[in-house]
Amino acid sequence: MKSKKVVSIMIIFFCSIILCSCVKNTDNREKKGNIFRGKGQLHNAKCIYKDGTLYDDEYTYYLYSVSMNTIKEHYVKIDQDNNAYLDCNLASCTHTDESCHAIADAIYFCFNGKLYKYRDNIVLSAETEKMVYHNTIPDMVKEETDSPDIQKLYVIDEEHLLIVGSSLAYAKLLDKDFNVLYTYTDPGQYKLWGKLYDGRFYYVNFVGSLMEVELDTGTSREVDLGLGMTKIMMPDDDGEYIFLSTTHTFYKYSLKTQECNEINEQLNWWEFMVYDGYIYNEVFNNDNSTVKVQIWDYDGNLVFETKEAKHMYIDRAHIANGKLYYIYSNQESDEKGEFVMAIMNLDGTGYTETKVLK
Ligand SMILES: [Zn+2]
Repeated sequence: MKSKKVVSIMIIFFCSIILCSCVKNTDNREKKGNIFRGKGQLHNAKCIYKDGTLYDDEYTYYLYSVSMNTIKEHYVKIDQDNNAYLDCNLASCTHTDESCHAIADAIYFCFNGKLYKYRDNIVLSAETEKMVYHNTIPDMVKEETDSPDIQKLYVIDEEHLLIVGSSLAYAKLLDKDFNVLYTYTDPGQYKLWGKLYDGRFYYVNFVGSLMEVELDTGTSREVDLGLGMTKIMMPDDDGEYIFLSTTHTFYKYSLKTQECNEINEQLNWWEFMVYDGYIYNEVFNNDNSTVKVQIWDYDGNLVFETKEAKHMYIDRAHIANGKLYYIYSNQESDEKGEFVMAIMNLDGTGYTETKVLK
């Protein structure tokens, strides 16, 4: 009887230790922040050109190679005061090899509430390092590419993501458990794009047509936009609408009503991005090297035009933390390898440029 009591006391004692250490661990984790050591949850930035940029409550982590001496990409950290810098505290680091803290070991992305990363042909959980997906080349394109590496990855929504294979030879639509739902071998040479609506998947193929796939049956067809011969230069979407620019005109296509309306015939919006009720596009200034940004509503009314947004190239800009960001290499600078971050508020105000500190 006595020994039983001792055992129970001991069990309670050990349980308390375990419990305490768990609580302690959680505290430590909160202090440390997320994997990027910032506060709050990470989110994917929006960029139609490339993946990998993330943001949390404190910082934006912009994926870009800011060294002339390596093709490896860095995570450039940008704070709320628009300071942009490499998060590397190694003295005299050249930021060109694996020892550099700012070099990305993989490309990170958020999906279905979790953080993942990919490199080569695998996708891993960023927390456990466990492999969740292993990419292989589909049989039908084995003659076109011999690399199974993932070229780009695009999170469409919380349930779907798109993997674009090497040489743009194919693309795969995956569900939240990384099962392949659909594979196609005619992806367009476009920006990252794909759209799910009402059980159907939409993409633009290599001849510039909008394709619709019934996911239940796997059958695909070209969507007749009623425009005759049309080559889509770029698509982007929001809710029920797909916005399309052709070589001459800009259109809005409703997936609900299947109506396609011209919303602007004057401008060739080859470079545009749709975000939260507005369309952003860039127009070159007379000098042909700098741009200004225009912001339109979904009916084609001009809402705002920046006086000056010299280097905010919309097709390559990243939207995160309520701002647009774009890094470019400063060719006018005497300092070799100087990179500059262009920043603008989403309403078109506050354009500023800042040197990326290394
Ligand atoms: Zn470094």
